[in-house]
Amino acid sequence: MTHIIIADYIYTPEGFQENLAVAFTHIIKEIDTLDILKAKYPHANIIQTAEHCVLYPGFINTHVHLEFSANKTALKYGSFMPWLDSVIEHREALVGKCDNEIMRRECDTMLRSGITTFGAISSFGNELEVCEETPQRVVFFNELIGSNAQYADMLYGDFMERVKVSMSCQKSSRITPAIAIHSPYSVHPIILQKAVNVAKEHTLPLCTHFLESQAEREWLEHGKGELKGFFEKYFKTSTPVTNIQEFMYAFDRYPTHFTHCVQANKAELEYLAQKGHSIAHCPRSNRYLGCGRLAIETLSLPYSVATDGLSSNDSLNIFDELRAALMLHHQVPIEKLANTLINAITTNAAEILGINSGKIEVGKLADFAVVTLPEMPKRKEEIALWSILHTKEVSEVYIGGEKYI
Ligand SMILES: [Zn+2]
Repeated sequence: MTHIIIADYIYTPEGFQENLAVAFTHIIKEIDTLDILKAKYPHANIIQTAEHCVLYPGFINTHVHLEFSANKTALKYGSFMPWLDSVIEHREALVGKCDNEIMRRECDTMLRSGITTFGAISSFGNELEVCEETPQRVVFFNELIGSNAQYADMLYGDFMERVKVSMSCQKSSRITPAIAIHSPYSVHPIILQKAVNVAKEHTLPLCTHFLESQAEREWLEHGKGELKGFFEKYFKTSTPVTNIQEFMYAFDRYPTHFTHCVQANKAELEYLAQKGHSIAHCPRSNRYLGCGRLAIETLSLPYSVATDGLSSNDSLNIFDELRAALMLHHQVPIEKLANTLINAITTNAAEILGINSGKIEVGKLADFAVVTLPEMPKRKEEIALWSILHTKEVSEVYIGGEKYI
């Protein structure tokens, strides 16, 4: 079945276009005027959106932890180390409390904010069932953790089991299996390299948390600071398993999505750029955990904007995240920033996750989010800004050409 959708504005790689319509099945067939498309596809189902609507490609949240969706006030916000301590204290209870119903609700929150694809970072595999059922495309990042050489093999074995299970879901759902490395301080270099090799061998998307906090930087650089006490207390060790350079080098030959990077310096960011990597920028998470601000205006590598999990956020609504980004990055002219942020959650994010979406272009998957503006924008160059400021929930969502909202 072919559909033709018409909106006042369509967000295309050439900017916001007027007087156009899009013909699609599960993919985008053609973009032209309504008259031409009607003549070409006389039996097509015509979808007329409401007044003042903008048709966007479906939004993409590259980094979320669904398993921590039960957190409301259990975890301590404000500063990284007290937060990490509170994670250790409440993790079991939070993960135990987080049933499928809670995770389903959060997938729905994302859907209603226009998210048609998300990257789920999975520590235990608990959210797999929900991710199989959810209408969205899910890049399922099986996370590897384990810094102690003694237990590393066992943890790696468990990790590989989860990778295999997610690979077997590929055919019957919209899941893409993928690999996540927890962080430089929590993964032993030997199993790290093995996991990177698995990603490379099966061309699986790969991501890692990197230089999120000042404490992480101090520990990796000098073996000192707040993380030292943490490792002595919980892991009976007082030296880091790797350093910043060695960790970065491990990803040299495989493009990786580095999450946070707030504490990375100019040289490190340049190195990541040179190796073809990208960044997941999580503005609210960084603010809530007192990690600082990633200077996105000076980045020379592609980045996405992501919510992170409810373990360090208050909602998984992507528009809440974009509004926070507008406030946090007050250095950047607001109109320009609004356009950059929309690009980050569409074109950039799709390229980073290797999903054939993120653009309204012939041949791309028919994933759309329809935003209804409160009135016709007075100036075309402000559409991205008004979309971000005035949208709590989108009006319509299509994934693979099917309507879900
Ligand atoms: Zn994270």
